[in-house]
Amino acid sequence: MIHIKKPAEIEEMKLAGKISAKALRKTGELVRPGISTLDLDRFAEEYIRMQGATPAFLGYGGFKGSICASINDAIVHGIPGEDKILQEGDIISIDTGAVIGGWVGDNAWTYAVGEIDAETQRLLEVTEQSMWAGIDQARSGNHLEDIGHTVQTVAEGAGFGVVREYVGHGVGHDMHEDPNVPNFGRKGRGPKLKAGMVIAIEPMVCAGTFRTRGPYPEEGGWTVYTADGKCAAHFERTVAIQADGAPLILTSEEW
Ligand code: MG
Repeated sequence: MIHIKKPAEIEEMKLAGKISAKALRKTGELVRPGISTLDLDRFAEEYIRMQGATPAFLGYGGFKGSICASINDAIVHGIPGEDKILQEGDIISIDTGAVIGGWVGDNAWTYAVGEIDAETQRLLEVTEQSMWAGIDQARSGNHLEDIGHTVQTVAEGAGFGVVREYVGHGVGHDMHEDPNVPNFGRKGRGPKLKAGMVIAIEPMVCAGTFRTRGPYPEEGGWTVYTADGKCAAHFERTVAIQADGAPLILTSEEW
């Protein structure tokens, strides 16, 4: 069931969105060769707690981190670790979420570690662009799959693959609510979008095949990789659909 939020509830959600956005940016500023993803995780957890919020991912389904930290061919759900040290030329998707006042914020960004090659840079740019293009479709009266169709058109138009098994989602009191928000689809399909729907739009785009491998129990059962070992990028914003015009970006530092 899709929970439609009242205007006052959307207002309340801004704080969770703001803390999630600031935690993401500040953690991203620490990305450099030699830092471990556990160090990033500890920073993010402390920052989120200092704001009076709780890390949304910590303990979620038994997840052991406050962030997901997914390096290179890891698409999403990378578990932070002391032994996962960033190297020059890597890319890392950092996903942060915060809960405050009973509301969740959820957002992600993929960062370059030092200098990266031109093709990987293009992957980051196209994935970010596909996210904003998808977000622009999150308008009252459009259909849910208009979002995925647009993401897919941008990503595949650039020669990249769009992950099928992992998708965006509704956000509210729970981090994962209905509806699922795929990054692929057909124009005019899926439920009609309505004011008060809050969704996380999160393209996961692969340099090569969209096929995935994992997660593996021996690694803790979370991290998903590209099947061909090529890099994947991941960008995410939580947005609220408005009665008119473009959606409101809730995971914003503006609030
Ligand atoms: Mg999400």
